[in-house]
Amino acid sequence: MSGFALPLVRFSVSQHRTIIGHCYSELPNEACGLLLGPAVGGDDLHDGEPTGAIADVVTTRNEAASARLYAIHGQDYGTARKAARESGNRIVGCFHSHTHTDAYPSPTDVEAAIHNPNWLYAIVSLRAETPMLHVFRMQSGNIAECQVVLEAR
Ligand SMILES: [Zn+2]
Repeated sequence: MSGFALPLVRFSVSQHRTIIGHCYSELPNEACGLLLGPAVGGDDLHDGEPTGAIADVVTTRNEAASARLYAIHGQDYGTARKAARESGNRIVGCFHSHTHTDAYPSPTDVEAAIHNPNWLYAIVSLRAETPMLHVFRMQSGNIAECQVVLEAR
């Protein structure tokens, strides 16, 4: 038994590269995007429970255009939701960057997670020279980290 929460989150190497690249390209602002993949038990109104497989990464505009906040652009969200449906996937989470802090949820992140309790929350820290990506579940104010693996697919 490890100290990680379920599920095991599986990105491809190129999805990981897409996320990190988008985070750098949006500097000095925070970057954000959505994670698409299979989920169990979801319907049109409620996202299901992610299996951990990430089928696609969608970069989105940060509607907040801020170095301290992110808000996934509404139009980009709609486009991603449609793409997810068409590929038999769901939106299973999102990612955003922390430009000067660690890859750990801020109080604002925990509060925002109330709206999507089943989501996987990937946070990328650009604080150090090497970017760090960590994935969290945030449910009822609790923060738990998921293990991340990169697959050569
Ligand atoms: Zn944050």
